[in-house]
Amino acid sequence: MQKIANVVIIGGGITGCAAAYELALRGVKDIVVIEKQYLSSGATGRCGAGVRQQWGTETNAILARDSVKRFESMNEELEYDRDIEFKQGGYLMVSYTEKEWEQYKKNVAVQHSLGIPTKMITPQEALEIVPHLNTKGLIGATFCHSDGHANPFHVVDAYYKAAARLGVKFETYTSVTGIKLEKGKVTGVKTSNGDIFAQTVINACGYAAGQICDMVGFKLPLYPQRHQALVTEPVEPCQDPMVISLHHRLYCQQTPHGSFVMGVGDPNEPKDFNIQSSWQFLEDVARQATTVLPLLKNLRVVRQWSGLYDMSPDANPILDEVPGAKGMWVAAGFSGHGFMVAPQTAVLLVQKILGQECFMPIERFSLDRFSGGKLDLESAVV
Ligand code: FAD
Repeated sequence: MQKIANVVIIGGGITGCAAAYELALRGVKDIVVIEKQYLSSGATGRCGAGVRQQWGTETNAILARDSVKRFESMNEELEYDRDIEFKQGGYLMVSYTEKEWEQYKKNVAVQHSLGIPTKMITPQEALEIVPHLNTKGLIGATFCHSDGHANPFHVVDAYYKAAARLGVKFETYTSVTGIKLEKGKVTGVKTSNGDIFAQTVINACGYAAGQICDMVGFKLPLYPQRHQALVTEPVEPCQDPMVISLHHRLYCQQTPHGSFVMGVGDPNEPKDFNIQSSWQFLEDVARQATTVLPLLKNLRVVRQWSGLYDMSPDANPILDEVPGAKGMWVAAGFSGHGFMVAPQTAVLLVQKILGQECFMPIERFSLDRFSGGKLDLESAVV
C-alpha cells in the first residue's frame, strides 16, 4: 500500500530536521523526513560547529543574527533533555592584509546597520582576547562577543526529538530514488523503502540537492566541494573565541571539552563528491594554524575527517520552489555556513510554503537571482 504524507522532507541534516519541527509547530500533520543514512551523517555532523554573525551580505547576516537568538534559548524552546552546548565565546576575525581589512570595514558596516555588535579592534586588543595570537603583520581584527559554537549532533538531536514529539516520522537508512511529477506538480517520492504520496516535498539534501533536482529535470546551480577538519587531544581551556583568518583560510575553536577543532579551505579543491581525507590537509592546516596561533604547535591530532560544502554561485542559500515542479522546494546552497543559519532558514522556508508572512524577504534567496543582474557575493566564506 502506498504511504501518504502531507510533506516529505528529503535529508536529515540540520536543515531538514529544523524544517520538520517548524512545520509541525505550525500544525502541519503527516510529515515524513527521509534520510539515506543516519541523522547528521551529511555536512551537519562534519561541520566546524561555528555560529557567527560576522557576514558581508545582509542576507547571511540577518539569518545568522536571528539564528543566534534561537540558539540562545534552544534547550528550553525544544525542551531538550541534554545540552546543545551553545557557548558564546565570540569570534575573532583577524586580518593580515590591507585588502582584507578594507573588506572587513565594509562587512562591519553591514553588521552595524543590522544591530550586530561587532567591534573593530587593534592587534593589542586582539592579543588580550587570545594571548597566543601571532600579531606579527596583524593589521587589526573584528570581534563579536555573541558569536560562538554549538554541538551539531545535539542540535539535530534536539530538533529531531521536538519534531518527533509533534508527530513527525523519521525514516533513516532510506534513500529517495525518484520524484513523482504529474503535469508539472509533485505527487510524491520514490524511496528504497517504497513510494510516498505527497504534494509538498522539501529538498534539504545539502551537497546532494542537485541530484534530487536532476530527478525532475532541473539543473540546480550548486556544486559540492570537499572541506576537511580535525580535532586534537583535549587540553586546559586557553581560547574562548573561534579564531578565523580568511587570509590563511583557517578557522579554529576550542570546544567545551578542551579539544581544538579546526579546518582550512583549499581554493584548488575540485568540484566533486570526494570525501576522502588527505595527508596534504594535515600539513596545510598544521602550517596555517601554527602561523596564526603558534602555541598550538605541540597539540596532538586525534582524528581528521571531511565533508562537502553545498556551494552556490554567491555563497548565499537557495530557498525556492523548483521551476517546473510545483510543490517541490529546495533549501540548499549554504556554502559552508548552513549550520549557523538553519534555525531561521527553516522558519523562512516554512513561512513561505505555508503562505504566511515571511520575517524577511525570501526573494533574496530565489533561484532567479542567478539568471541576470549582479549577484551580492558573500566575501566572508572560509
Ligand atoms: P546536510 O547536513 O549535508 O544534510 C543533507 C542530508 O541529505 C544528508 O544527511 C544526506 O545523507 C541526505 N541525503 C542526500 N541524498 C539523499 C537521498 N537521495 N535520499 C535521502 N537522503 C539523502 N556551517 C556552519 O554554520 N558553521 C561551521 O563552522 C561549519 N563548518 C563546516 C566545516 C566542514 C568541514 C563542512 C563540511 C561544513 C561546514 N559547515 C559549517 C557547513 C554546514 O555543515 C552545512 O552548511 C550544513 O550542515 C548543511 O546542512 P543540511 O542539513 O542542509 O545538509
